[in-house]
Amino acid sequence: MPQKTKNTPMMEQYLSIKEQYQDAFLFYRLGDFYELFYDDALKVAQLLELTLTSRNKNAEEPIPMCGVPYHAASNYIDILVEQGYKVAICEQVEDPKTTKGMVKREVIQLVTPGTLMEGKGVSAKENNFLTALTFANGKYGLSYVDLTTGELCSTTLNEQESVLNEASSLQTKEIVLTSDIPESLKETLKTRLGVIFSTQKDYEPNAEFQFLISELSSDLEKEATAKLLQYLSLTQKRSLDHIQKAQSYQVDHYLKMDHYSKVNLELNQSIRTGKKHGTLLWLLDETKTAMGGRLLKQWLDRPLIQKSAILKRQDQVASLLNAFFEREDLKEALTKVYDLERLAGRVAFGNVNGRDLLQLKSSLEQVPAIRAILQGIDQGEWNDTLNDMEPMEDLVELIGQAISEEAPVSITEGNVIKDGFDEQLDKYREAMRNGKQWIAELEAKERKKTGIKNLKVGYNRVFGYYIEITKANLANLEEGTYERKQTLANAERFITPELKELEKLILEAEEQSVDLEYELFLDVRKKIKKAIDRLQHLAKTISKTDVLQSFAVISERYQYVRPELNDEKELNIIEGRHPVVEKVLGSQEYIPNTVQMDQQTLILLITGPNMSGKSTYMRQLALTVILAQMGCFVPAQSAVMPIFDRIFTRIGASDDLIAGQSTFMVEMMEANQALLHATPNSLVLFDELGRGTATYDGMALAQAIIEYIHQHVGAKTLFSTHYHELTVLQDELPQLKNIHVGAVEKDGELVFLHKMMEGPADKSYGIHVAKIAGLPEDLLNRADNILQALEKGKTLQNQEIPSESSATEKQETNQQLSLFSEDSELASDVVEQLNALNLMEMTPLDALNKLYELKQSV
Ligand code: ADP
Repeated sequence: MPQKTKNTPMMEQYLSIKEQYQDAFLFYRLGDFYELFYDDALKVAQLLELTLTSRNKNAEEPIPMCGVPYHAASNYIDILVEQGYKVAICEQVEDPKTTKGMVKREVIQLVTPGTLMEGKGVSAKENNFLTALTFANGKYGLSYVDLTTGELCSTTLNEQESVLNEASSLQTKEIVLTSDIPESLKETLKTRLGVIFSTQKDYEPNAEFQFLISELSSDLEKEATAKLLQYLSLTQKRSLDHIQKAQSYQVDHYLKMDHYSKVNLELNQSIRTGKKHGTLLWLLDETKTAMGGRLLKQWLDRPLIQKSAILKRQDQVASLLNAFFEREDLKEALTKVYDLERLAGRVAFGNVNGRDLLQLKSSLEQVPAIRAILQGIDQGEWNDTLNDMEPMEDLVELIGQAISEEAPVSITEGNVIKDGFDEQLDKYREAMRNGKQWIAELEAKERKKTGIKNLKVGYNRVFGYYIEITKANLANLEEGTYERKQTLANAERFITPELKELEKLILEAEEQSVDLEYELFLDVRKKIKKAIDRLQHLAKTISKTDVLQSFAVISERYQYVRPELNDEKELNIIEGRHPVVEKVLGSQEYIPNTVQMDQQTLILLITGPNMSGKSTYMRQLALTVILAQMGCFVPAQSAVMPIFDRIFTRIGASDDLIAGQSTFMVEMMEANQALLHATPNSLVLFDELGRGTATYDGMALAQAIIEYIHQHVGAKTLFSTHYHELTVLQDELPQLKNIHVGAVEKDGELVFLHKMMEGPADKSYGIHVAKIAGLPEDLLNRADNILQALEKGKTLQNQEIPSESSATEKQETNQQLSLFSEDSELASDVVEQLNALNLMEMTPLDALNKLYELKQSV
């Protein structure tokens, strides 16, 4: 930075403001532009592809400068903020016309990723959460707010891992640090989630904050929330009236899933594309309102664990499922509901216009219809919803009376308020309407007086009203009364005292009516602002109804069933499906699979080769559990399930390379999380654990982990492996059950049925594949011998290479070991026969006979 003494007063002002906003780009208003200087200019010119110039080109050290026109600034600001930068908007706060010397300038708003209200960075179906974090005595206070909806919540977390999980669920882009947070946590948050940090060390206790934090009991949460509010108030510098009272929540009250599991299960973001497409959220989202869309995402992030709450949602979904026509009406009514939450936010923030209020009104007008539909199907399950769903007729009436149906976007240029709403406004308007009449009359009078037929009275902004006479007719004009104002190529424009008088009346009425309209509009807005609490409450109730109808639509479309919840740790999902894979593949292609784990069964050990469907099976179970605990129905023929408290997963290829850890390390860290924190009520899904290291090493670890879970953890666990050796564990561990993926040979190819079957998989599928691929027979026999030897715990030496004759012997044993033993050949025959049946054409008796016949053949 240059020496301050050398600078002009303006640059002095710039530098002193910039000093207070070091971590933001300062958009400094100069006339019709926002200008940036020095480093800000260098960086922004590059980021926004603007031309870089300089302020004092001839000086020894010119000041780099670039700028954007003020009317287009919001686009540029959005781009910067979306990329994770902050922008301080510095305005002239005095009228330059009436000020001598330097115009006073102030930063009127700091726009940051977490405080964005509109634009591309704020999508309708997503919240934009700003988070604050406090740390004391080993615990974290986390508080978050969505400035667009006013939602404010806080919680206490005991470890870094939980902070990461919460921040990841919230998809927060900005975290306000309010105390010294361990560097390691900051680093993790930055690298894993790409958040940016802001600081807020202190806060001024004031009545508003006190009120908003009054229901929090923890000091840590109070502090985080108060500082979060202070940060908002300092950066936004305007009304925060729509911020709701802070609610404290506990992560233990919901089904917990860590960051990795959520990523791996692709709940709301596809691993491959980072988009919503192909995720559970994508599948489930049949919401009709933006707020419903946001709530659905929140429910997905926090499935329930309280049985009564889940049952209540199930009841509501069931009642909607039973009422097809009512559901159609409900969808239609919801479609007409705009984003009440964000509208309420904008009312408070002071950036609504007439059209927004009309949207508010037409949304509220749907409430009686929605209520009537729910009343019609209610058997008690909608009672609370109905009580909470207030029609707010007072607002409908107010907006109906005040706001013109044709209200323009601007609220300062008139035509916003309806005729008949305000007496004084009506009087001005009368004068304006009469004015038109007066002008028309004056024009006719002048034409008559002068005899000039094409004489006309016109208006422009610079000269006001004028009488226009073409050059050819000028000679007919009387001297004296006409004062020349403007000369055009072939006409002259005049005014007369009479026209001037009329103009004054008309313009005054116009000006005053516009001012009055603005005042009236602010008044209406103020009245609505008083109803913000009620509006937000209504918005929540409508969002819930919307999510539940979305569940009903999905459950019907894909034929989901209501899961039965039990407290006996019994898991019995008959013919379950992976909801997303099923949608992508189509229900014809997807092979349903049963997951059966009675009270006694803790571990399912799944064997089967790559690509046979093991991880899909595990994900299927996880997603089914999540759906069930959200209160939705589930993709299965029938489902009995316990309520889980946590889901741990280690599935699929690890993608945590950013953190610079090896796949195996990440695998072990995730496994450790599960071993440390899983309870007998948790669900653990381990896919090919131990694969990332040497065979025996990996196998030994896998076995030890299985034993540990069996002995010490007691969580329901699905463990897939291609270490066939592990299947013998069934003999030692009574609560472990082997299952495997079935396969058949079809047209000389090995086809995995994606079907889980009881017992361990056949061990020599690899050799069988090689056989199908046509590898030399000797080689295959040799491979088989090696396999057997390995199983006996020794390696084969060269001298043990079999002779011609012994090869034949081996071939015989080989057949017994082959994947297609008699049993599975028979099974495949039965499967083939089953596949050939055309059930639609069979009578029940035919079917029974066929079943009998099949049974006989087994
Ligand atoms: P693995 O974990 O055994 O390597 P995956 O679960 O990744 O196998 O599945 C491999 C492929 O098989 C996937 O492309 C998936 O779409 C398909 N698949 C898996 N399970 C099924 C199923 N039940 N029905 C139809 N296709 C399936």
